[in-house]
Amino acid sequence: MKVSILGNSLTSLSLAKSLVNQGIKVDIFSNKKKRKYNKNQTIGISKSNIDFFNKKILNINKFLWNIKNIEIYSENLEHHKILDFQNRHNHLFSIVKNFNLYNHLFYNLKKNKLIRFSKKTNYQNLLEKKYDLIFNCDHSNSVTKKFFHNRIEKDYNSFAYVTTFKHKRLTNNCVAVQIFTKRGPIAFLPISSVETSVVFSIKGKENVNLENLIKKYNLKYEILKINKVNNFELKLSNLRSYTFKNIIAFGDILHRLHPLAGQGFNMTIRDIKEINSLIEFKKKHGLELDRSIGLDFEKNLKDKNYLFSNGIDFIYEFFNFENKFNNNNLSKLVKLLGKNNLANKIFTKIADKGISISDY
Ligand SMILES: Cc1cc2nc3c(=O)[nH]c(=O)nc-3n(C[C@H](O)[C@H](O)[C@H](O)COP(=O)(O)OP(=O)(O)OC[C@H]3O[C@@H](n4cnc5c(N)ncnc54)[C@H](O)[C@@H]3O)c2cc1C
Repeated sequence: MKVSILGNSLTSLSLAKSLVNQGIKVDIFSNKKKRKYNKNQTIGISKSNIDFFNKKILNINKFLWNIKNIEIYSENLEHHKILDFQNRHNHLFSIVKNFNLYNHLFYNLKKNKLIRFSKKTNYQNLLEKKYDLIFNCDHSNSVTKKFFHNRIEKDYNSFAYVTTFKHKRLTNNCVAVQIFTKRGPIAFLPISSVETSVVFSIKGKENVNLENLIKKYNLKYEILKINKVNNFELKLSNLRSYTFKNIIAFGDILHRLHPLAGQGFNMTIRDIKEINSLIEFKKKHGLELDRSIGLDFEKNLKDKNYLFSNGIDFIYEFFNFENKFNNNNLSKLVKLLGKNNLANKIFTKIADKGISISDY
């Protein structure tokens, strides 16, 4: 089987590595060989996705900082804790810098004989070449514009501001904190005992002074230095059709969601897991590795992905509604629900493994 991947993003390289691990030849096409990722951006990856990544993609343990507790607060309840997630036996998820994860994958793949990095050629020529499957992970190329533009979208009219800050050493810096403020959710995500990252999603495009806001909502750190701030315009988007002939759209092209639950890349890892098991299944049964993989992938995951990303949107709208009407009844309700062990367990499981109805 011969596969090509369009784009050289984190998604592209993670997918490529999972494919070469199965003995599949992969050509990666992109403008530049290596992407530059910002050092101040982090991603939270759930425990079960880390386990999969380590086993079937690449061991990334040395770049991870494990989070054992998630505390959720509401400004509407005078900064009272409304939810508290923890797993007595294990950590819940891990934080990694996009930059470290990308470089680790890139330098590993560079040494792999089954991988070829090529400068982007004309896409029309590329589509005519003999590839059994083409994964399109590049949201700005002409393939996306031509075949994968039909999506269900919602503009949050919000920007996510991200950075990291250095602080005095905190020996047990393993608690992630999210506060639903009147301006939007802010998350403090520890990345080491001396560094923590921040994601603050704020409505409108205003002149935001993130440094002041970090200082306002910071509950426990003695901040030494705040690094450069980057911002991203936020959208919810779900692609209507995942495939065109033997091309499969992949990664954020399929689903973009509000970062409040840190689930975008987690969904992509679950998608890689699905591709991985479809290939394993076909190999085991001596079946052709062809475009049917794309069709099965879409059949198995599209509805679940749609439901999941809309579930995250529901959480966003839930707290947004409370702010609009200036009351705190919903926060009180969440606090009550969070005290219920079963509800708490279900929330934790969905965040870890996505939607798998059969589990409940
Ligand atoms: C502020 C922020 C925080 C995030 N935190 C997490 C996390 O903790 N855990 C996790 O699993 N995923 C998270 N994601 C999603 C994750 O960053 C992307 O899925 C992943 O980086 C895709 O990378 P890529 O290199 O393959 O794609 P790229 O080729 O880099 O393209 C994707 C681009 O879209 C941006 N993007 C992603 N989601 C949105 C959105 N809803 N609206 C607008 N732009 C978006 C990405 O940051 C990136 O710049 C977050 C996204 C954003 C914007």
